[in-house]
Amino acid sequence: MRYASVVLDIPTRALDAAFDYAIPPALEGEAVTGATVLVSFSHRMAVGYVVGTSDEPPAGVPVEKIQPIAQVLAPSSFDDVAAGLAAWMAREYACPLPDAVRPFLAPGQKVRVTRAAPDAPWELACERTGAVDARWAALTPAANDFVPARSASRQRAVIEALRQGPQRVSELSATIPGARAAVTALERRGVVAVRSLRELRGGGDTTLSTAAAPRPEALTAGQRAALAAIDAAREAARGDVVLVDGVTGSGKTEVYLAAIERSLAVGRGALVLVPEISLTAQTVGRFRSRFGDDVAVLHSRLSAGERFDQWDLVRSGRARVVVGARSALFAPLAQVGLVIIDEEHEFSYKQDKSPRYHAREVAAELARARGAALVLGSATPSLESLERCREGLCRGVSWTRVEMPERPGASVLPDVTVVDMAEQFRSGGRSVFSGPLVDALREVAERREKAVLMLNRRGFANFLMCRECGCVPECPHCSTALTYHERGHLLACHSCGRTWPVRAFPDPSTRCPNCGSRYLAAFGVGTQRVEDELAMLLPPHVEVIRMDADTTRAKGAHQSLLERFDAAECAVLVGTQMIAKGLDFPEVTLVGVINADTMLKLPDFRAAERTYDLLEQVAGRAGRGERPGRVIVQTYWATHPAMRAVAAHDRRVFLDAELAERAEAHYPPYARLANVVAWGRCEKDVRSALDALAAAVRERAGDASGWEVLGPADCVKARVKDRFRRHLMVKAPAGADLGALLAPLVASLPRRAGINIAVDIDAYDLM
Ligand code: ADP
Ligand code: ZN
Ligand code: ZN
Repeated sequence: MRYASVVLDIPTRALDAAFDYAIPPALEGEAVTGATVLVSFSHRMAVGYVVGTSDEPPAGVPVEKIQPIAQVLAPSSFDDVAAGLAAWMAREYACPLPDAVRPFLAPGQKVRVTRAAPDAPWELACERTGAVDARWAALTPAANDFVPARSASRQRAVIEALRQGPQRVSELSATIPGARAAVTALERRGVVAVRSLRELRGGGDTTLSTAAAPRPEALTAGQRAALAAIDAAREAARGDVVLVDGVTGSGKTEVYLAAIERSLAVGRGALVLVPEISLTAQTVGRFRSRFGDDVAVLHSRLSAGERFDQWDLVRSGRARVVVGARSALFAPLAQVGLVIIDEEHEFSYKQDKSPRYHAREVAAELARARGAALVLGSATPSLESLERCREGLCRGVSWTRVEMPERPGASVLPDVTVVDMAEQFRSGGRSVFSGPLVDALREVAERREKAVLMLNRRGFANFLMCRECGCVPECPHCSTALTYHERGHLLACHSCGRTWPVRAFPDPSTRCPNCGSRYLAAFGVGTQRVEDELAMLLPPHVEVIRMDADTTRAKGAHQSLLERFDAAECAVLVGTQMIAKGLDFPEVTLVGVINADTMLKLPDFRAAERTYDLLEQVAGRAGRGERPGRVIVQTYWATHPAMRAVAAHDRRVFLDAELAERAEAHYPPYARLANVVAWGRCEKDVRSALDALAAAVRERAGDASGWEVLGPADCVKARVKDRFRRHLMVKAPAGADLGALLAPLVASLPRRAGINIAVDIDAYDLM
């Protein structure tokens, strides 16, 4: 008899272990690691996942007491190494085991069990929609002479993407709205050929296999050094890490491509993670052009059916290069040579719901477990990664940093000016644009170039503030500061979505709720106001395009606004943070940051790092073409190290100040930090749950040096949807096993209906 270790998909922290079941002989071949099974558990049927099998009966349980597996509901979706990784995640992030296993399941697998009648077999409700689009589009030789109409921006986007190589029509339409129609139109003109996958596989169709993105003739010295370090790490096969620290445009992607090529040559695939927002048709196209249909793409814009099909390409071994967002880490690729994380500093690599993992940490563990190398790339590496490279070692594997300080060719870094807005105010400036920014915008208009203006919306931009006491009105249901919307004259809460006409809040007099002053005025600016002021400032031939949460709500709106900007002759793109990344328009000669410092006011120890990263990123949007670029940063805090570092193109200015502060205050990378949030309708229960936890943590950690409990305290967002939110933070020494300490303490808290607790290890969101 064989036995299986099964993780039950029952959501309770009290069941935090795998349970043993016997494998009936009839199910021998099916009930393997990774299979979804049906078992009985305390007099009911339950869904579970096999995480290991053995010939030995489990110790300490009488053999006759071990129940058999009733049924196999879905075939294996992960192997033993992946099962080990799930167990590691559950421990490391103090999350329930089933939460850690679920990411490894086939996309679209719904784990509900149903049966038609009391004696009918149990069935897994598994939704799979639509088959993958097997139609591939590729440029024909006629494309070389084809110039699409200036207004046909979709056709141009499709051609641009296909210049990188053939792509599935479904993928094009996931990233370019209206791509299907554009492909049809281009096919009619003989510019694009559409073939089915079978034909592509059959080979011999040269139009589909030769139109590839140009491969650089020679790698730069920096690229060669990075590649050598990656090769060495891959050959060492123990999870060594290489940080490719390269300025924007230094050729990091080219390094990834070359490294993957070498890994594939020895029969090992690669997992490539990019932030969701940079997962564009062009990015995918670059990988496809090198690796053809060896590439699987996993991202949230694909339908569940398409995701399943891509996932299945990986499981069956037909695709060995996986390009995707954070969750691509869980793709069923067994022979992994490389795990690559592009823009590794991105905060979106931390998942904000259970399992609250950080992709970088899971990737490091995965690379170690599979004997692969981990490659991290960024122009602004995280302080965590920089610190590990400085030490050279973390959790037993080596960390190496390779610098790529230059762009290939002639493109130069832009000139950065920091404008002190307080000084502008003192000398009478009341506009949202400082003198230098106005001058620069007029020059752009005169020269018929393009500019990008970024408005920082995190923090307190666009709030109503009392000029006399500084009070900012908050939502009475959530403690979120209300934002002011000029059009409609409304106050809105971004936590619960409630709105009030300004005149009705907080009472008809529109006085400050705190001091009664009448000088309650809009503070900070919104994108609409910037748009309106620009229209007055600039001549009519300049097109002003606004890109923010409001204008990008509709599907595909994001892309079509970018297309409008691209197609315009002379234009200013005004937007929130979403415009900072990935935009690559050579005609942009001016980048303006309207309010660089709003994020600095957030109660978050990473606020300065966020600000610095964002400024560097947005500055990198200027001067990517032949004409030199300029960056103007407006701030009330011109002396802040983040501002000085960006102005001087010298990261050390920021790092030295920031690292000194982190060390002093005992924050990452010199410590670990967990945030435990409790929420519920009953404030008393929320309080007592966290008080009990705080006492338990204090008792367990005792006087051990480096351990510290902060709080409990109300969260910054102390009420959301009428639920009270309190949190406590636990600081621990850098190498400490935080999850192992917290998990049992949280699990043993008395359970109260309506009280939720989230444990966030290495937290990024402290609000
Ligand atoms: P990054 O990923 O660092 O932003 P990319 O890999 O996208 O940089 O490279 C930026 C540009 O430089 C691309 O157009 C790429 O084709 C080009 N490039 C990269 N490496 C080289 C090289 N060795 N020689 C010439 N051009 C290169
Ligand atoms: Zn007031
Ligand atoms: Zn609210």
